[in-house]
Amino acid sequence: MEKNTAIIGSGITGLTTAFYLKKTGIKFKIFEKTNHFGGVINTVSENGFVFETGPNSGTLSNIETVELFEYLAGNFELETADETAKKRLILKNNKWYALPSGLFSGISTPLFNVKDKFRLLAEPFRKSGNNPFETISELVIRRMGNSFLDYAVDPFISGIYAGDTNYLVTKYALPKLYKLEQQYGSFIGGAIKKSKEPKSEQDKKVTKKIFSAQGGLSKIVNALVKYIGEENIILNSKIEVKKNDRFYNVENEVFSHVVNTANAGELSSLFPFLHKEYLKDISNLVYAQVAEIAIGFKEWKGIDLDAFGGLIPSKERKNLLGILFMSSIFKNRAPEKGALLTTFVGGIKNNKLSEMPDDELLKLVKPELQELLVLKTFNPDLIKIFYHKKAIAQYGADSKKRLQAIERLEKENKNLFLAGSMRDGISLADRIKQGTELAEIIIKSNS
Ligand SMILES: Cc1cc2nc3c(=O)[nH]c(=O)nc-3n(C[C@H](O)[C@H](O)[C@H](O)COP(=O)(O)OP(=O)(O)OC[C@H]3O[C@@H](n4cnc5c(N)ncnc54)[C@H](O)[C@@H]3O)c2cc1C
Repeated sequence: MEKNTAIIGSGITGLTTAFYLKKTGIKFKIFEKTNHFGGVINTVSENGFVFETGPNSGTLSNIETVELFEYLAGNFELETADETAKKRLILKNNKWYALPSGLFSGISTPLFNVKDKFRLLAEPFRKSGNNPFETISELVIRRMGNSFLDYAVDPFISGIYAGDTNYLVTKYALPKLYKLEQQYGSFIGGAIKKSKEPKSEQDKKVTKKIFSAQGGLSKIVNALVKYIGEENIILNSKIEVKKNDRFYNVENEVFSHVVNTANAGELSSLFPFLHKEYLKDISNLVYAQVAEIAIGFKEWKGIDLDAFGGLIPSKERKNLLGILFMSSIFKNRAPEKGALLTTFVGGIKNNKLSEMPDDELLKLVKPELQELLVLKTFNPDLIKIFYHKKAIAQYGADSKKRLQAIERLEKENKNLFLAGSMRDGISLADRIKQGTELAEIIIKSNS
């Protein structure tokens, strides 16, 4: 019998695994529930605007992402964020301030209070934490102070997780930060020491650069699909995986390996043979819900958009989580004198907002946008809303149990991989890393 792999889901994780299997000559088939490739990634061109309906950009923050794009070179044009869009704005008392990027701006910024600025000087000398379930709020207050939590970390967490710093556990949600404290005893000291450590050629390629593709993220999906071959992806599939001894049966085909990238809520119907007792510790994973709104203006008459975007701390009590200045970050996203913005509403603290009908939602957000962007009138040439019910997995204190349950089920079911954003990180770069690592395991077990 020929050994091959069934991949569930054609998002960036599944496509990355498929890419490397194809490259190595291992047979596979992707089963995708919807009628399109790419999962939540989707770029639309309309009326002179190019906008995303899901993720807007990624970071070249690991070697797996850099290398995947090197392999795909020539099949899409990688675009990194414009230098002028580096600044991150944070809202305080209805005014935007740049998030400090150095010592001087850190001292002079009105975002943080004087007490916490002094406290920060002692950060390298503070004891490391020893609670692996410490929330992000607890960690930041312990090491840095409340104003850093409210006006730096909270908005940053809204931007990434649409999440709540009181729920997310640092070890699972921000593992790099957690390790920095555990390994070096301090964020500041650790960052300085790390920057002085010798870097391999591979390390040098890994940066904090923000990426998309010319024409939007769907170009990356298209490049992957072209390489993988559309004939290897079954769209609109309604599958249930059956287990026969050591093999898996999907749609009357036998597979030796199965990779799941669908969200945690799908597992019980996809894999009826999995032990319910462990499954419940995975299926109860909480996801933030968001509504994403793309807004285009053919002629921009508001504030200077010379930044990546603006994030809105929970303390400011707005409906919006933040606004991305997409036409400042990437080229050709709006007509020449125009602007393309993307804003997010909802998130774990306000999930209900992302369930509102279009007209009610717009009634809420329009006045906020008009005020925050300093527009005399609010008459966009494009306004589109996209709802995401299971947008972002929230790695809370239940993560340990979930990861143990995944490990247990994978052990009981050889060559079944319960992957996707229920573990290993939620960013595009995390997903590419996981997809690459899964392919490596499958390739090894086939050799
Ligand atoms: C609104 C939004 C904005 C985001 N913004 C950013 C950002 O700016 N930067 C960033 O780095 N990350 C961002 N993320 C996170 C990132 O986009 C995702 O983590 C990543 O794209 C997920 O990829 P995936 O392949 O793991 O999952 P998905 O893209 O969700 O793909 C899973 C696939 O599985 C399919 N599927 C589900 N159930 C079944 C089934 N039963 N049978 C067959 N197929 C099934 C789904 O239809 C889907 O196509 C954002 C996410 C969202 C939702």
